[in-house]
Amino acid sequence: MSVLVVGSIALDTIETPFGSVKDTVGGSATYISAAASYFFSPIRTVGVVGGDFPREGIAFLEDRNVDLEGIETIASGKTFRWSGRYHYDLNERDTLSTDLNVFEKFDPKVPERYRKSRYVVLGNIDPVLQQRVLNQMENPRVVICDTMNYWIDRKGAELRETLKRINILILNDSEARLLSREPGLIKAARVIRGFGPSVVIIKKGEHGALLLTETMVFSAPAYPMETIFDPTGAGDTFAGGFAGWLARTDDLSEENLKRAVIYGSTLASFCVERFGVEGLRDLTYLQIQDRFRQFRELSRFDED
Ligand code: AMP
Repeated sequence: MSVLVVGSIALDTIETPFGSVKDTVGGSATYISAAASYFFSPIRTVGVVGGDFPREGIAFLEDRNVDLEGIETIASGKTFRWSGRYHYDLNERDTLSTDLNVFEKFDPKVPERYRKSRYVVLGNIDPVLQQRVLNQMENPRVVICDTMNYWIDRKGAELRETLKRINILILNDSEARLLSREPGLIKAARVIRGFGPSVVIIKKGEHGALLLTETMVFSAPAYPMETIFDPTGAGDTFAGGFAGWLARTDDLSEENLKRAVIYGSTLASFCVERFGVEGLRDLTYLQIQDRFRQFRELSRFDED
């Protein structure tokens, strides 16, 4: 088995009611790769950074045993930057700025030895770049895709082209409504499935996630967190944990898709406990298993 991840590698400036941080390492590819690496290793990552990307960002991925051959450095360019501010309701976030920088002219080159990767995770990134990566792949078994309102608004037609070529789409509730133009999430998922992906996962922040296939709706709870420090990257971490579990098991049955959703939620719960990528730095398998089991207890009840 083999897993390729493409997405943004970023310097994020984040404000939450509990603190702020400037130019911290982030990006969809960073969170996805780190989360997936707990189940599958090495993760192959494709992305681009500028000459200003700090050594500690690379070291973080190296420590997670991520294969970095696919990460290009444009020494004369600046790394992608994003900044956001969270409200007291941490499900609410305003994007303050998005500077594509080196992503503006990025032409992803998938290294020869990555091209037969069986699992491909298209992290949140320009849908045109997502397609250019797919064009270089040789017959992947599963393509999982994440996106966000930024791209639905600006590159809706291009995103619809990407959707024709993927198997599983992961997005949040407001993005699902925006993409489908349907207010109800069950109907929204049906519309989105009509665009291409046979499986749709709708994340609902601290309210859990829905997994929808042609024959099933599975509602996963969210882990009731005592402290949420910084929700940045929770969605990408969910996607990474989900994809990593699927690749580890290589089992696409409905029961295993459910497990993958819970593993994604488990990893996301660790992510939000610390600022930036810190929550994904050094988890143990036991910690992950322990929290995975707690998810089952959350919604178990006796009939009488
Ligand atoms: P999430 O909180 O899971 O939605 O993801 C947050 C991460 O997405 C941050 O680390 C950002 O750097 C990255 N990000 C934000 N906007 C974009 C965008 N338009 N394209 C690619 N990545 C982005």
